[in-house]
Amino acid sequence: MERLLIEPFYVMKVLERAKELEREGRKIIHFEVGEPDLPVPEIVKEKALEALKRTELRYTETAGIPPLREKIAEYYERTYGVKVNPEQVIVTPGSSIGLLAVLKVVSERIGSVAYPDPGYPCYKNMLKFLKADSEPVNVEAEEEFKVKPEKLKTKAVVINSPSNPTGVVYTKEELQKISEKAFVISDEIYHGLTYGRGAPSVLEVTDNAVVVSGFSKFFLMTGWRVGWLIVPDWMVKDVVAILQNVAISAPTLSQIAALACFEEECLEELRRNVETFRKRKDLMLSGLKKLGFRIPAHPQGAFYIFADASAFTEDSFSFAFKVLEETGVAITPGRDFGYNKTERFVRFSFCTDERNIEEGLDRLYVFLR
Ligand code: PMP
Repeated sequence: MERLLIEPFYVMKVLERAKELEREGRKIIHFEVGEPDLPVPEIVKEKALEALKRTELRYTETAGIPPLREKIAEYYERTYGVKVNPEQVIVTPGSSIGLLAVLKVVSERIGSVAYPDPGYPCYKNMLKFLKADSEPVNVEAEEEFKVKPEKLKTKAVVINSPSNPTGVVYTKEELQKISEKAFVISDEIYHGLTYGRGAPSVLEVTDNAVVVSGFSKFFLMTGWRVGWLIVPDWMVKDVVAILQNVAISAPTLSQIAALACFEEECLEELRRNVETFRKRKDLMLSGLKKLGFRIPAHPQGAFYIFADASAFTEDSFSFAFKVLEETGVAITPGRDFGYNKTERFVRFSFCTDERNIEEGLDRLYVFLR
């Protein structure tokens, strides 16, 4: 593959090929995408339409519109019982750019940043892009793919709970121990989407940590590009200055629409969606096991299953392509998530309905037999 300034997502190769096949008329089952398929609540769309008629949609304050920062702060108090000053909440155009800004600040002001391998690829890719000191920390199937504090040698670490690609959720005790060893950047973008106990926030164990989160997953608003950061007071100015330069502000319309997310009626609808995801997860999990995939960690949140495919392949990258060509089922090769035994793993996402999940499993059955 051509060498770029920042590593691309390998799954894009799968997606490109899947789209080609679709253009040729094949029905593709999409188990590769990490984007919820359920509709955005009406109340959010209404809020946006109303704003479109009423306002001129100029830039906003870089840190976001004050009522949204306040609502996010209140949401943390209600959900996690933690006090957050709205001044610490910074609204971003999607959490990704917020993540880039905090990785820059933490690596400059604190030191080397560790990231889980396997883990969400952007941590490694952004840190390399920033030429920041960084270090992978291997997370192992036998340890539920969790960062173990005793392995940490850096002053800072980025963790992700519920996790992409494994769906594991850190307990409060685990967060506590990690935060005693290193400054934590906690990617909580999948919060709200949990299938057992809820996921604790890092803010329940320390004030001196960063939360990266947003409206893309539980709130279903991927394309609206709106996320948030919660940062300690000492970080606010640096982060805002970076965002001023690279983004000016998050999309005004999306910020206004996002206010509706915190209405009780909207939250209730979103919570009901979690049941839909739970059913899909159960269906896919039992189906994959029957097919012979080993699932070392059952997902407790998010919408992914990280499956050990070593019964079928030693090279999950070519396996993903072979599966796509022969069955029309698109999956993500483990290679996207790092180097630690990832050639054995593939990620399945359940962002598609139960009928498609059944059909995908049937097609895999025929292929693997
Ligand atoms: N963190 C993780 C772990 C993710 O999976 C994603 C989306 N795939 C993001 C952050 C970024 O989401 P967004 O920029 O849409 O807020």
